[in-house]
Amino acid sequence: MNDVTNVQSPMPEDQWDRRDELAANLADVRARISAAEVAAYRPAGSVQLVAVTKTWPAEDVALLSSLGIVDVAENRHQEAVAKHDRLRDLNLRWHFIGQLQRNKCRAVAQYADVVESVDRIELVAALDRGAQECERQIDVLIQVDLQEPPEPHRGGTASADIPGLVEALMTSQSLKLTGVMAVAPLGADPRPAFDRLYAMYQGLKDQCPDVTVMSAGMSDDLEEAVFAGTTHIRIGTAVLGRRPKVG
Ligand SMILES: *Cc1c(COP(=O)(O)O)cnc(C)c1O
Repeated sequence: MNDVTNVQSPMPEDQWDRRDELAANLADVRARISAAEVAAYRPAGSVQLVAVTKTWPAEDVALLSSLGIVDVAENRHQEAVAKHDRLRDLNLRWHFIGQLQRNKCRAVAQYADVVESVDRIELVAALDRGAQECERQIDVLIQVDLQEPPEPHRGGTASADIPGLVEALMTSQSLKLTGVMAVAPLGADPRPAFDRLYAMYQGLKDQCPDVTVMSAGMSDDLEEAVFAGTTHIRIGTAVLGRRPKVG
């Protein structure tokens, strides 16, 4: 029998406050998703939430896990690997959403379950080699540049380069092309841009059977993405709060 008087809460009190805050934010975001699904005549539960935990501590990721979140996204390798190492016992799916350098691909392939930001052919072989080394299979999304005209330094491939990337991914050993990802263009209406992404997603789906993911929509534009037909939204601020400024 457990001696109830002796049981100590494993979680410090401020963690409980943070847990309440995250739970309330999650409830708000889930309500926004549900309302958008209804308004767009889409089935309930057709949009998957990915929590963007960049800049927030591993403790927050653990709290989100305790609140039912499985998909978490990070954009910097150093930070991601540190959190992954601390939380490897939790049932989490790690998404990498940051700009990738070729020399980091091998390391990212050690822990990422989904790499959403593949935008250059040179990344494909490096990720594939990394995945093979640790005998893993990694889901990959092609990041598309929706800016018109294209602005390569923000990440994302121009639509003309997509066929080459598809070919490289389809012939890789350990990478599975599962869809497309994009960020809304700066200073432009996100809706037509997300519509273009949806058309690319449908085109890709006709070509490869494993394609099931369109990743678009963030805290400020999730409704537009749901209307355009996205399957996954990536939400940071609306779940975790305003990020502390980082250098
Ligand atoms: C930071 C980030 C997000 C989340 O943005 P919020 O506005 O905080 O919801 C989504 N996608 C990418 C690629 C990001 O870098």
